[in-house]
Amino acid sequence: MGISKVAVLLSGGIDSTLVVDLVLQSHRHVTALFIDYGQQSVGAERKASQEIATHFGISWSSVTIGGISTAAGEIPGRNDLLIAAASVAYPRHSIAIGTHAGTGYSDCSPEHGAAWQGLLDVQYAGVVQLLAPLASLSKAEVVALALDRRIPLGHTYSCEAASVPCEACRSCADRRSLLDAA
Ligand SMILES: [Zn+2]
Repeated sequence: MGISKVAVLLSGGIDSTLVVDLVLQSHRHVTALFIDYGQQSVGAERKASQEIATHFGISWSSVTIGGISTAAGEIPGRNDLLIAAASVAYPRHSIAIGTHAGTGYSDCSPEHGAAWQGLLDVQYAGVVQLLAPLASLSKAEVVALALDRRIPLGHTYSCEAASVPCEACRSCADRRSLLDAA
């Protein structure tokens, strides 16, 4: 049996917002955690994350990890950093993350999730779970489910390059094409 307290890694994008919505269906004690690791779009992401937590009526906190410089696009090890920060900030909480299929990033793969579950099992003897409810869904399926669930899309922020949508990065392109098609 997993424990019922969950910390959701809430970046403020569509994926993590949908994760909050889904986790709240089955868990009562849900808190949002925002990680500032020096990402290019941190200001807009932080604002979106806070607004989404308010929308869902859940508590919100942030952790700042300094000294790392990142660009837009794949950041190898990024999800390791996020999960590790959540594990330290919220001990004995399950951790929910919005990884989905089709990115080609190794830290979004089922193998990566299983490896992290193994680490959490070493720490907590099997009672803390890594929850990745979107792991088997494509981005298009994530957006379709997000629309179906009526998540607050107007509060979400997707650009990974800047705090005003750059309209050029992969996240901006994904958001535009998927929402246009919806
Ligand atoms: Zn962008």
